[in-house]
Amino acid sequence: MSSYLFHNGAVINGAGDPVQTTSVLVEGDRITHLGAQADDRARHLLEVQRIDLSGKTLMPGLIDAHCHLSFDDASSNPEIFFQRRHALSAITALYNGRKLLRAGVTGILDPDSVFENMVDVRDALEAGLMQGPRIACGCYALITGVGGTAGGLINDTGVTGYYKVVNGHDEIVAEVRRQVKVGADWIKVHVSGVAPRYAQRGEQCSWLQEELDLICRVAHDLGVPVMGHCRGDVANRRAALSGMDLIFHATGMSEDTTSLLIDRKIPVCPAMTFQANMIDYGADLGTDPALVQLFEREIVDSAQNMQRLHRAGVPLLCGSEAGFSMVPYGHWHYREMEVFMKYFGLTSLQAIQCGTQSGALALKMAGQTGEIAPGMKADLLVVQGDPSSDITVLGRSESIEGVWIDGKPMDLSPPLPRKPIRGWTMPSMGKRLTNPGIRDA
Ligand SMILES: [Zn+2]
Repeated sequence: MSSYLFHNGAVINGAGDPVQTTSVLVEGDRITHLGAQADDRARHLLEVQRIDLSGKTLMPGLIDAHCHLSFDDASSNPEIFFQRRHALSAITALYNGRKLLRAGVTGILDPDSVFENMVDVRDALEAGLMQGPRIACGCYALITGVGGTAGGLINDTGVTGYYKVVNGHDEIVAEVRRQVKVGADWIKVHVSGVAPRYAQRGEQCSWLQEELDLICRVAHDLGVPVMGHCRGDVANRRAALSGMDLIFHATGMSEDTTSLLIDRKIPVCPAMTFQANMIDYGADLGTDPALVQLFEREIVDSAQNMQRLHRAGVPLLCGSEAGFSMVPYGHWHYREMEVFMKYFGLTSLQAIQCGTQSGALALKMAGQTGEIAPGMKADLLVVQGDPSSDITVLGRSESIEGVWIDGKPMDLSPPLPRKPIRGWTMPSMGKRLTNPGIRDA
């Protein structure tokens, strides 16, 4: 059993308390003592590794509550739906997991994956086959025949990429039970989706209330929580009424629906890093300015609701939506905390609480990790500088000095440089070829 004494430096406990200078003792997989007790106890241990924190900060490892580890930085849904293979996507997920460790991430919730392969990746990591963050995961995201956010690309029945269509009572019951058998930690539901013909309405709730109720009843009966992707007032309201345990995005809510979430204390993971990146970098990347504006409105318009939820004590969780080229693995896992500060007015310590202590909910480990306190799992991060005065230090991998999961130090050396995988991404035919002899009207 290894022991570590962290001393001489700043400690952010993840519970929102002010930064303290104190000692932290880890024995085996747990934090056992703080302060003078930690120093005392360390003197009586036969072997203890002392880690000097001068100029550094010790804090709980980051928990990314919305990360798709099987998507491999895809630049489009067709790439994920049609170009991917089962075993290879699981192998790339394990490779990409190393990048998360280097970014200080000790746990993720992966909501849905191609081939449901996060179940295998999670079990491989738990068995110690490789190093990677703790994973809680869903299987396929449940959708109705209306589809999810990928519109007409989604098959009328069965599986497309990370989605599965379920129609009617029997299919819902059978699929939820099958996912529990396969090993889902959570059931994921795409409560809202886009019908291409009606895209101007935005995402619409694509389930009846009784269908959502049924999903929750079957899942809860088996002791498995349910999480929903919800945009728009109806989707959020029906999800809350059905008894869902976690809501992603939660945008477009009325005041009444926000109150409902508050009454029921339903945790919310806005996962707006993707949108924030589009706002700040979209122009450089050639993103349609209208789309950038749409995303900016989504964040700005939901700021008041998010502030209300936070003030009322509803846990807000940080999710990066990593898995897409706009939010590549290892780069942006801290960024949601910055979004919470910039758009929702949270302090850095409140935002860090969202990215650590509150995130433990997503791992189904609330009260067991995400916080520096005796009895907690030693899932820790040492970073140069002070994230409470500059949150962006958490976005620089050279600042991440050490990461521990279950009290074990993680290998933070860079993964081997990789080459393109044949047939893995969508080939592009190139830009529009104009004939200089033809004059377009
Ligand atoms: Zn997502």
